[in-house]
Amino acid sequence: MARVEPGVAGATEKPPETQAPRQLVSLAMYRTLVLNATNDPLSVVSGRRGALLVLAEKADPVHESGDQLRSERCSLLVPSVIRLRYFVQVPFHGARAISRHGIFARDDFTCQYCGGKADSIDHVRPRSRGGGHTWDNVVAACRPCNTRKRDRLLSELSMRLRRSPSIPTRSTLLAAASTAVPEHWCLYLGVDRRRTA
Ligand SMILES: [Zn+2]
Repeated sequence: MARVEPGVAGATEKPPETQAPRQLVSLAMYRTLVLNATNDPLSVVSGRRGALLVLAEKADPVHESGDQLRSERCSLLVPSVIRLRYFVQVPFHGARAISRHGIFARDDFTCQYCGGKADSIDHVRPRSRGGGHTWDNVVAACRPCNTRKRDRLLSELSMRLRRSPSIPTRSTLLAAASTAVPEHWCLYLGVDRRRTA
């Protein structure tokens, strides 16, 4: 339920387009984690979109940021985590677009050859030798390992992967989608707090 000040008629019908510019700017800083009706993490949206979903009674706040959004007609706590009131069907293994940040998040920002801090991406089977830019062929790596490996196969070197690359979980990608993952999100995402690159 939206936190609407009592006695303010029509407050839930008014989207926060009437906010003063300063308040809209501050709302733009917020991000809202959206849970499916089943409590599974679904997506990350802007705080504004999260607030609108609550105002439209399409979602309930599960965790609030503690910051209040005010307009002439209503006020509500900006939701940090919301749960949809309806179920959204999610393809089991939908096409999860490969991204540099997603690769770092999946590999915990760790070089998959030496365990050091990763600052580059390596194609396990080099592209020049037919390797694809796919989740199961791309790993996070440090520059020295990347330079050492060059366009060779692991079988031609003494290098080994610490774990085989695979499609990351939706939770890992959601964590990667947000530059700063609030600590209380980890509970819903089922992930450890991630280090940033
Ligand atoms: Zn390395």
